[in-house]
Amino acid sequence: MSVECDAVVVGAGVAGLTAAKHITAAGRDVVVLEQASAAGGRISTDRVDGFLLDRGFQLLNPAYPAAQRNLDLAALQLQSFPKGARIGVPATVLSLSAFSPQSWYRLARGKVASVRGLSALVRYALRCGWSEPARLRQRPDLPLGATLREHGVDDATLTEVAYPFLAGVFGQDDPGAVSRNYADFVLRSFVRGRPAVPSQGMQAIPDQLASSSAGALRYDSPVRRLTSQGVHTDDEEFRCRAVVLATDAASATALLPSLRPRPMNDLTTWYFTSGTEVPYRELIVAPADSMLCNIAVMTNTAPTYSADGRALIAASAVGLWPTAEAAELAREQTAVLLGVAPHLLAETARYPIADALPRFDSPRPSADPLRNPLLREGIYVIGDHQDTPSIQGAMVSGERGAAAVLAALG
Ligand SMILES: Cc1cc2nc3c(=O)[nH]c(=O)nc-3n(C[C@H](O)[C@H](O)[C@H](O)COP(=O)(O)OP(=O)(O)OC[C@H]3O[C@@H](n4cnc5c(N)ncnc54)[C@H](O)[C@@H]3O)c2cc1C
Repeated sequence: MSVECDAVVVGAGVAGLTAAKHITAAGRDVVVLEQASAAGGRISTDRVDGFLLDRGFQLLNPAYPAAQRNLDLAALQLQSFPKGARIGVPATVLSLSAFSPQSWYRLARGKVASVRGLSALVRYALRCGWSEPARLRQRPDLPLGATLREHGVDDATLTEVAYPFLAGVFGQDDPGAVSRNYADFVLRSFVRGRPAVPSQGMQAIPDQLASSSAGALRYDSPVRRLTSQGVHTDDEEFRCRAVVLATDAASATALLPSLRPRPMNDLTTWYFTSGTEVPYRELIVAPADSMLCNIAVMTNTAPTYSADGRALIAASAVGLWPTAEAAELAREQTAVLLGVAPHLLAETARYPIADALPRFDSPRPSADPLRNPLLREGIYVIGDHQDTPSIQGAMVSGERGAAAVLAALG
């Protein structure tokens, strides 16, 4: 069977959904082909035993400009984590935004890092927060670690505070290698906004985007082949004037081999329930020698994540950790950091996620360090691997793809 339309979007993650939303809003006839049976790609939420479990701990920062443009944030009923993170043992709060010398002093007294190094780190983050995006884009593409050192952040602060925090954000054990062109934007959004989860789980984000082009979506439709004039699924051909490839990086390279493969980072999240009340609302950053990178007591911030008031804890680590032994270690380390007895924590689910995030190291080969070229062999290639590895990057990429398609359609 053959179908004619103005544009085909391959992939219903946030990049493809954002593109489809704009193409639909312009009155164009678009079809979105998604291989899975639901929209969202790397953002999805399971409902298990009365809990909402995001497939890998992740947060939406409402300060993301693209989220403000494309989402009805009020309708998501965001539940926000407090600013700052709890760092080190004994834990204390380091705020990236408020001027809080008391917390730095406590942190420094715990011999975690020096007050001078911490204040340099916070000063750098604040400068990113106050800078306009256009200024950040103009900064040279350098590794974040070298940049922070240049700005007075000492080794102890880097290894004991900055890197443990950023390892979880970027999904890699060597966050100092990340390009400051990307890292500066991430720090900016941490200073400006409070990361949050929707009341119905992260899945509410793609669900909301999908509702803008509901008629265009076709699930269980893996695309097998494509050209600039159309695409083929197993049993249908879609002929169109614009093809938008909006898959993850590995699928994009499989369909369009001239694309450069992207190195990716893996992440694992374990969900634990607790038989007792658990303290802390801030994100807890695990010490540098821990297997874990961070812990979030989800239900202290997002009570809707539990149907019956039982506590839900997300503990995450860089890398793939599928085994029962790793889960046991994660449970023990979570218990220590929360100050509860390990036997009070029970594992509810485990999500080892391969290829969770594209790496974004310096130097970037592309002329624009934040973006790869949009067109390849006449096909519009979008997704977080073409922009920054985040919900913001995926949405911006979707907007750019839609604008180019609409310009080409005339
Ligand atoms: C564990 C984890 C934690 C994260 N934490 C954060 C965070 O805190 N903050 C943040 O901003 N970002 C975070 N991210 C990143 C963010 O989720 C992604 O950047 C974003 O969702 C990528 O969207 P995308 O549309 O580019 O790709 P995807 O979500 O991968 O969507 C691609 C879609 O294409 C489909 N597809 C693939 N091949 C085909 C084919 N042949 N035919 C049809 N369909 C196909 C896939 O099924 C998928 O639905 C995290 C990601 C993970 C996994």
